Amino acid sequence: MSQDNLIGLECTMCKRVTNHSKKNKKKLKERLELNKFCNFCKKHTPHKETK
Ligand SMILES: [Zn+2]
Repeated sequence: MSQDNLIGLECTMCKRVTNHSKKNKKKLKERLELNKFCNFCKKHTPHKETK
């Protein structure tokens, strides 16, 4: 595994990076959008991949 697969997930509500995830960039070229729990918003919000 390489560090290249590490991505941050930014909460679209508070704009903070609240989660980290991994993805295979060779297989997934598009930006991820996931529903994740945000510790700042205290609820599930849409998160976008960031770098
Ligand atoms: Zn948030």
